[in-house]
Amino acid sequence: MALSKRGDYWYGTTLEDLKAEVVRFSKGNKYEAVAFAPSQCGCGGKHFRLESDETEGVAQRTCSGCGETVLMGDSAEFVVDARLEKHFCICDSEVFELLSGVALYEGSNDVRWYYIGCRCSACSLVGVFAEWKCEGGDAAALLSKV
Ligand SMILES: [Zn+2]
Ligand SMILES: [Zn+2]
Repeated sequence: MALSKRGDYWYGTTLEDLKAEVVRFSKGNKYEAVAFAPSQCGCGGKHFRLESDETEGVAQRTCSGCGETVLMGDSAEFVVDARLEKHFCICDSEVFELLSGVALYEGSNDVRWYYIGCRCSACSLVGVFAEWKCEGGDAAALLSKV
């Protein structure tokens, strides 16, 4: 499948489609996402509620299956000051598949910008729901904690 546009929104059926949307969005932000990782809960669940605070650079996901919460990437370092707000789709659903993407500093593996792509489990809308400048260090290490 591929991305399709309805009105102002993009829709996709797979994580590859979501990745394409994260790339599209990140190019518009000048810092192109080049490394990616999908979120998967320890229980095997792939559907999450998402809360974030872009100012502090914090995102927390909650598994819709078992309820486990995880602070994504380097969020744990900044969570004390965060005011987390829950994300909703335009269809009012609050459950998403999540794909993290990062842009890197030139010639390094160090994270420069962090994007969180969401694919709505109800209506298949895809979009970057949270993104911020992130000095999270090594990309592989950061993406192992999403
Ligand atoms: Zn779970
Ligand atoms: Zn939706």
